[in-house]
Amino acid sequence: EATTVVVIGAGPAGLTLANLLRLAGVGCVVLERHSRAYVEGRQRAGVLDYHGAQIFEKWGLAGQILAGMPGDGSLEIRVDGRSRLLDVAALSGGRTGALIPQQILIGRLLAAHLEAGADVRFAAGDVALHDIAGPEPKVTYRDPDGVLREIGCAYIAGCDGQHGVSRAAVPADALTTYTYDHGIGWFTILADVPPPRHPLMAISSHGFAAHFARGPKASRFYLQCDPGADPAQWSEERVWTQLRLRLGDEELPAGAITDKTVVDMRSFVADPMRHGRLFLAGDAAHIITPMGGKGMNLAIADADVLAHALRAAVHDGDETGLAAYSTTCLDRVWNHQEYSRWLTEMTHEAGDESLAGPFRHRLARARLERLFTSEAAARALVDLMAGG
Ligand code: FAD
Repeated sequence: EATTVVVIGAGPAGLTLANLLRLAGVGCVVLERHSRAYVEGRQRAGVLDYHGAQIFEKWGLAGQILAGMPGDGSLEIRVDGRSRLLDVAALSGGRTGALIPQQILIGRLLAAHLEAGADVRFAAGDVALHDIAGPEPKVTYRDPDGVLREIGCAYIAGCDGQHGVSRAAVPADALTTYTYDHGIGWFTILADVPPPRHPLMAISSHGFAAHFARGPKASRFYLQCDPGADPAQWSEERVWTQLRLRLGDEELPAGAITDKTVVDMRSFVADPMRHGRLFLAGDAAHIITPMGGKGMNLAIADADVLAHALRAAVHDGDETGLAAYSTTCLDRVWNHQEYSRWLTEMTHEAGDESLAGPFRHRLARARLERLFTSEAAARALVDLMAGG
């Protein structure tokens, strides 16, 4: 069996790419290890930035993908319980994104793709990449009946996340990897609590906390914690007491907690994002901390660059886009890594003075204050929030 592109992984990167390739008239098969129910139920990110929303707009998918999703017009930063609002819409000249829970985005991308009769194979086991450096790569996998299958292709898109098989198929000496541990933990919960009026970050001596929407009835909360902390240390009582304290909101209602985890505040970048006929996209190539909400957006942006490059290669025999793919994406990745690190440092060091000492604490407070006294500084922040 043969196709033009085998896409490995049906997350934001893989499903965006598959939809864009379909619209570009490039044949592809998506291989996903898990079931459709698993993929559609995985709740992680919640913000599509302006650049990401523009991608769906430009490919004519915005109606299907973004219908009914609210915008993110303001950001609330609460410092020692005092609320300050940044008018993101005004400061960015209307370049705002959409609040869309990742699982809704995934469900809609899948529906759009499958309704068009496209080929997505779930429960694909033992996916393996072969001959990626040569002109005729292949991907093998085991179908749900246990039968080993082989697909020949012109290109492979490795969209299988942080722990997938695609990056592992690249010889170690062909990749330079960069890792960074931010030295902070984030305990995060999903809860049946009404979303905040605006995305909210709270800074105080009790430690960082944040409250974000995840649809009309649910919220994701983040609480700074020790790196490597055990989620079991967070009893329900401790969660709500700490959130009320850190958010400076005695009235915050408690709700059923549907998920709790500790997120590693780690960064990872693999360079280049290409090896022969294999192109890595999204978390398969780079991990960013959740601070700033850029992981899913980078995955979608990679897919867009790759779709344009593959369209030119397949229809016009023009491989310049593919040759530039890695550099184009990595420039954006490093810009966003810097943004995430900058925001992490400011919001955490301005809170707990013991984290980086009294001098850096005061620097972070000055940097934070500047957002509300200098329009140029506020514009620089919302420019990064918009992505691109
Ligand atoms: P993934 O979503 O990991 O998808 C990879 C897919 O490949 C999966 O479906 C997986 O099952 C499949 N797969 C894996 N291995 C194989 C294999 N061997 N064979 C076949 N298929 C395979 N990002 C934001 O932008 N904003 C946020 O607010 C945000 N918040 C987050 C909160 C949390 C708690 C977490 C954990 C992440 C958050 N992120 C956020 C990051 C974001 O979720 C990821 O960056 C995004 O999911 C990456 O998409 P992806 O398609 O590259 O990879």
